[in-house]
Order: sequence, then structure tokens, then C-alpha cells
Amino acid sequence: ENGGDGTPVVRAGMTIRSLFSLVPLEPPELRILLEHALGFSRVKLITHSDHVLTDAEANAVSDVLARRLRGEPVAYITGIREFYGLPFAVTPDVLIPRPETELLVDLALARLPEGGRVVDLGTGSGAIAVAIAAMRPDAQVWATDISGKALDIARKNAASCLKNGQSVRFRQGNWYEALEPGSRFDLIVSNPPYIHSADEHLRKGDLRFEPLSALTDYTDGLSAMDILIDQAPAYLKKGGELLMEHGYNQSGAVRKKLVDKKYLQVQSWKDLAGIERVSGGRLPD
Ligand code: GLN
Repeated sequence: ENGGDGTPVVRAGMTIRSLFSLVPLEPPELRILLEHALGFSRVKLITHSDHVLTDAEANAVSDVLARRLRGEPVAYITGIREFYGLPFAVTPDVLIPRPETELLVDLALARLPEGGRVVDLGTGSGAIAVAIAAMRPDAQVWATDISGKALDIARKNAASCLKNGQSVRFRQGNWYEALEPGSRFDLIVSNPPYIHSADEHLRKGDLRFEPLSALTDYTDGLSAMDILIDQAPAYLKKGGELLMEHGYNQSGAVRKKLVDKKYLQVQSWKDLAGIERVSGGRLPD
């Protein structure tokens, strides 16, 4: 039995257990959605699998499942996504943090000198900047975005994820325009929009629900890297480094841009899937 669009009808009187055979979603995903709809913890969902749904619970579950089965990403339904072990609030105004972006955080943490200054350009949910600030109370962390709505979410995430004494300084503006002229950083990091505007993935899966301006530059997917690479020398200290996330097939093009602009130690790093996902270089001392 279903609601006509493939969404199973969830009724009061059904048990939690029965939903796992009824609903055409993978169990881990269904578990997250049920926890959210019912307000149950992971443990409570498992220990109460015989729980019989009330009317209100059945309605809440139905709504959440209908949204997911229409394609909406789980993180936008629950409003939360874990990144670097921290719980980030997300809405459709920001890209959902991806596990591969943790590589960029790892690299930034390894390169940032004690007491150093780092800026995350185009911070979105704030995931990269907040993760760095959480791990490095010694550092001075800045984050920018052109979107005021994104900055509202990023500020909220800094407030909820960071302890006393840790902070991120947020600035609104387009790439480097958000920064004080003459300010210099040890490290500039960014996960810019890098998907080619013609890439069919933009019209598939979770990406359909994410902010287009966070995914694509509306051209070849490399124009944000041009801005980041061209202007970084005006905002980096001597020996400072630029690290950028990019698409699975862009490492060669990004390294070439870095080499052409005389960056040193230009290299790429592989994500957990073995794909060159981050590239960077440093200025001369
Ligand atoms: N990593 C995202 C994806 O391919 C894209 C994010 C971005 O453009 N910065 O799904």
C-alpha cells in the first residue's frame, strides 16, 4: 500500500520494526530519519522497536519519509550533519559538509604554525573554519562568505560547536573583498564552487537541493580557483600557503595554475577514495 507516489502509508498502530520492511530506504538512513521524526535517541530507537506509533508520530514519520523519497537530502531534513566530529546545523542556504573535505582540515591543521592566522574563503556552513578553530585554540581563524544567510548559519555553528576561548571571525564579501586590505595570513583555505555548469550531476541526487552558487561557478568549474590563486599573494605572509579543494578531475589544471603563478611546492593530496581532491602551494620565504 502506498500514497500513490511510492511513499508508503505510515499509520498509527504500526510498530517501529515494521517500518524497516515497509520503507524503501537503506536502514542506516531510515534510522536517522526515524530518530529525527520521533525525537528518539539511537539507543531508544533500537530498544523500542516494538513501540506502536501514535497518530502524531505516524504523521511526523510520514512527512519526513515523503520528503526523503522526493529526494531531499537527509541533512536538510534533520537540519544537522556531522563534520570533523562536530554537529553542524545545515539548511538549503549552505552546502552539506562532505567527508572528503575533512582532508582539507587535516592539511590545514598540519600546516598552520603555532598562533598562526588562517582564513577560510567561502565558508558556507562554517565547517572548515569551525573545525580548525575547535582543534587549534592557539590560532586566529577568519571565515568569509558572500552570502549573509550562510554567515548566519556559520556563526550559529561557531557558537554551538566551539568552547570558550575558541572563535572564528566572520566577514561578508566576495572572496578576498571580504578581507581587510593589507591583512596577511599564514594559510588560506577554500572549498569553492568547482562543478562545471554543464555537469549533469548538478541536476541529480542531493545536489539538486543544494545552493547552486556553492556548487558551480556557472562556467568551467575553475574560475573560483583563478581568483583564489591570482590574489592569494596579496594576502599571504612570506612562505604562506594556499590550499583548495577541487573536483575529481581538476588536480592537474589547478596545479598548472599554481605553477604558472610561481607558487612553490605545488602538490595535490588524495582523499579517502584515492582521488586527488586538494591542491596547494606556498609563496617563497
Ligand atoms: N564536493 C561537492 C560534490 O561534488 C561539490 C562541492 C563544491 O563544489 N565545492 O558533490
